[in-house]
Parts: sequence; C-alpha cells; structure tokens
Amino acid sequence: MATYPTLSAGIGHTPLLRLRQASEATGCEILAKAEFLNPGGSVKDRTALGLVDDAEARGLLRPGATVVEGTAGNTGIGLSLLGNSRGYRSLIVMPDTQSREKIDALRAAGAEVKLVPAAPWTDPNHYAATARRLADEMNARHPGSAWFANQFDNLANRQWHEDHTGAEIWEQTAGKIDGFVCASGTGGTIAGVGRALKARALEARDRAARSTDVVVALADPAGSALANYVTTGEAKAEGSSITEGIGNARLTANFLDAPIDVAWSIPDTESIPEIHRLLRHEGYGVGLSSGVNIAGAIRLARHLGPGHTVVTVLCDSAMRYQAKLFNPAFLREKGIEVPTWLDAAFPG
Ligand code: PMP
Repeated sequence: MATYPTLSAGIGHTPLLRLRQASEATGCEILAKAEFLNPGGSVKDRTALGLVDDAEARGLLRPGATVVEGTAGNTGIGLSLLGNSRGYRSLIVMPDTQSREKIDALRAAGAEVKLVPAAPWTDPNHYAATARRLADEMNARHPGSAWFANQFDNLANRQWHEDHTGAEIWEQTAGKIDGFVCASGTGGTIAGVGRALKARALEARDRAARSTDVVVALADPAGSALANYVTTGEAKAEGSSITEGIGNARLTANFLDAPIDVAWSIPDTESIPEIHRLLRHEGYGVGLSSGVNIAGAIRLARHLGPGHTVVTVLCDSAMRYQAKLFNPAFLREKGIEVPTWLDAAFPG
C-alpha cells in the first residue's frame, strides 16, 4: 500500500462514484468525483495546492510568509492546512454570510480569519479586494511577508484542474465520457476539466478512437450571472440562492476560457432535494454546490439522452453546512420544503 509523506500527496486522485438514483432516473451513467474526501474536505484543496506550488516555483512564496486569500471558505481551509504542512501563516478574508462550520474549521487550523460584510465585487470592501489590500499593506511594511493567492484570476488554479482533475476523470472513465457538468465559483474546475476532456476527446477523434466531443455544461445557481452570459452573452443575474462558493457576477480570468457548450440556471428548489435524497437513499452527505451539480448532471443526461456517461463533482461535505442545509428550522425559514424524515429526525 502506498504511503503519503506529506499532506499534499493526499490531495486529489479521488474516487468516481456512481450516483444510482440520478443514473436510474435518466438511463445514463451519472458519475461524480468524491471531492469531499480531500484532506481539507473539498475540491478547493486542489486549487490551494495548484496555487501554492506555482507560487513557490516562481519564488513568490518563501518560508515564514503569510498566505492571504479572499474565499467563501473552502480555498482558505485548503490553504491553511497546506500552510501548516509547509510552514506558512494564513490570513483568510471571507464574507460573514458563510457557514459557521467553515469559519470554525479555519480558526481551528490556526488561520487568522477576517469576516467582512457581503458586498458586490466592484466594492473596494469585497472580500477578495480586501484580501489583496491587506497583502499589499503587509508587503509595503515588510517586503515579501505576504502572498495574495488570487484564486479567481490566478490561472494556476485552472491549470491544476486541467493537469490533474481532468486527467483523472479521463483515466477513470477510460475515455468513455460524453458530458461533464459543474458549477463555477472561480471557474477553475469547469475551465480546467473542460479543457482537459475536450483536448483528449479531440485527440481520440484524430486517432478515430471516438466520434464525438465531450459536452461541457455549466450548472449555475440562481442569483449568478454566468448562465445568462453563456446563453445570451450578457452577464446578468436573476433570483437568489443559499448556495455557498459558487456563482459569480463577473467573468474571472479562470472562467473566461472555459469551453462551455450549454448552461442552466438551477434554483435552490431543484438542488436542495438532490442533496437530501442523496444522503437518505445513497448515504453520501454533500453540500449544496454538489446539489447544483447533481441537478445539472440530470439536466445534461436528459439533454444527451439515455445511454450516455455524464461526470460531475461532489465538491464538499454535508458536515460543513449541518446547521443550515440539514436543519428543518433553517430550511423552513427560507421557504424550502423539509422532507418528512428530516423533520422527524429533529423533533422540536
Ligand atoms: N463548490 C464549493 C463548495 C466551493 O467552495 C467552490 C469554490 N469556491 C466551488 C464549488 C467552485 O469551484 P471553482 O472555484 O473551481 O469554480
């Protein structure tokens, strides 16, 4: 059995799980990367490793420095754990709307956490702009003391997904994959995986080993502008969502070159039942971005028709959102239907 010398060796190479209900409902094989099994509990460990390895290679990040990032939480958790393993401090700026569990995980990991009110990305007090400013201030005082990871626009994010996540999916399906679908936060996952799969499909077509492309679809939460951008060319947001870590009002550098063929806006009323069903009937506890991805996979399967293989991502774990997504009182307050079994599990 292989042993891992450090944390970073344990990041990635996650299993591909068959989603039984989604597969049976559509007549397709719906498979999902179990990203909640990463050491920090989310797909964003991959991003953290990609960004840090790249910065070290470029000489931008030196031992003892502070990694500074603006994040919905998961990238911060990945960066902080990696920082503990490699000798960096972490300063994490996040909106105060994110789950308690993520904030607690960051503090337990030893990160300095700065919570800021949620603000539009054009606002100088937006969490990402704040992180950049704090890093600049630290570097002005002590040059080289801080490194701003910049996950939204640093293309090392997308590149890691292209080199690893996408390559893993192609290998695990032995190239028998017709579609890939996921939501976009920074865009690193969809752009990197999309590019990797399309390049391999093209290469296989050149060898006459297959006849079709891999269709890449965006599952966008309500309240995000990205689905509209893909469909109409206009980045216009409508509605709202309680999802965390996905959706965007702007086109990040990582998202811009994502090879997306089709996009859907997914309402919470469609994604939330997916995570409840998955936990109750298949035993996988996942967060709501995974629910958006499963709903997107079902839409993509219907779009392609029976007999196809569709891959998506289970980004993080239910444990990160226990007090919201699996709490009848919270769900009811948001006007979301509570399954009878969940209601019965929390009497009073
Ligand atoms: N799901 C969750 C839970 C996340 O935290 C994120 C990243 N913010 C994503 C999905 C989106 O991934 P990406 O940034 O690669 O688009």
